[in-house]
Amino acid sequence: EMILAIETSCDETAAAVIKGGTEILSNVVATQMEIHEQFGGVVPEIASRHHIEQITLVIEQALNEADVSMDEVDAFAVTEGPGLVGALLIGVNAAKTLAFAHNKPLIGVHHIAGHIYANRLEKEFQFPLLSLVVSGGHTELIYMKEHGHYEVIGETRDDAAGEAYDKVAKALKLPYPGGPVIDQLAQEGEDVYNFPRAWLEKDSYDFSFSGLKTSVINKLNQLNQKGESYRTEDLAASFQNSVIDVLVQKTYQAAKDLEVKQLIVAGGVSANKGLREAINQKFQDEDIELMIPPLYLCTDNAAMIGAAASIEYHNGQFKDSKLNANPGLMLG
Ligand code: ATP
Ligand code: FE
Ligand code: MG
Repeated sequence: EMILAIETSCDETAAAVIKGGTEILSNVVATQMEIHEQFGGVVPEIASRHHIEQITLVIEQALNEADVSMDEVDAFAVTEGPGLVGALLIGVNAAKTLAFAHNKPLIGVHHIAGHIYANRLEKEFQFPLLSLVVSGGHTELIYMKEHGHYEVIGETRDDAAGEAYDKVAKALKLPYPGGPVIDQLAQEGEDVYNFPRAWLEKDSYDFSFSGLKTSVINKLNQLNQKGESYRTEDLAASFQNSVIDVLVQKTYQAAKDLEVKQLIVAGGVSANKGLREAINQKFQDEDIELMIPPLYLCTDNAAMIGAAASIEYHNGQFKDSKLNANPGLMLG
């Protein structure tokens, strides 16, 4: 089947054409990164306005690049949540309009299901699997025993991993988004500060990053007050090591406990070089297949939404004209 997918949950206006759930015919992403950079974060009203300006162009480009006509599309899919309500609405309304104008099914996709299914564009899933989702708004361990079935076994109790990167970057006066910049600096630094690791209760698969963020900010203030010299690279490396240590160790424990066949890493933070290396190393001697998406599928895109929608297409799970943006949509 041919699915035209749309994603507008945050600051990327994206459309893609996906064939058979796994083949990318086109994947167009118009990012607003440079626009929001000057504000140090995503400004919701500005995001909505740019989505409105871009959406039609992006959809047309996705069809053109795929060399597919509207008539050849079997279903329209869209991210219904979670995300910024005004941003989500632009995509939801576009998908609804197209589905009803062309009398084709409409599919609503959870953004995080999309991040997970980005991996299926590379390789087939094997169940049971565990997915570590690390993004700007989420840090979760999700257990799946079949397609389209999600069980959240652990999640952050405060900041998401990507959010912690962005906040620490802001404190270090680095540009937004902070993840890629800190990752880069960390490669040139050393873990000299040995910040705390938030293990929480024994056996808990939950995460916490706000304490770490505070430790970094306190250390920075202390260094500045004392007029001591320091390298931003070392602060970056120390912060990153603490994040990665906890992510990798908890993921490893959960994967072993649940005896999964595959481990999937998904979301914007899965682009992190340090994390990719550490997780590769930790799982290299294990009988668990590791899947980490290529960089262009880690951050927000519509190909992943089309991949997730394919499951719902085959299950006949369609939406009607009442589909609405749902900023707090839960997974599963
Ligand atoms: P969500 O998916 O939870 O709704 P989002 O869509 O905003 O949030 P993504 O687009 O998946 O999140 O990812 C963006 C986040 O990824 C940002 O917080 C960014 O700093 C982080 N990020 C991107 N590249 C890296 C990297 N190399 N290292 C660490 N973090 C990174
Ligand atoms: Fe995302
Ligand atoms: Mg984003």
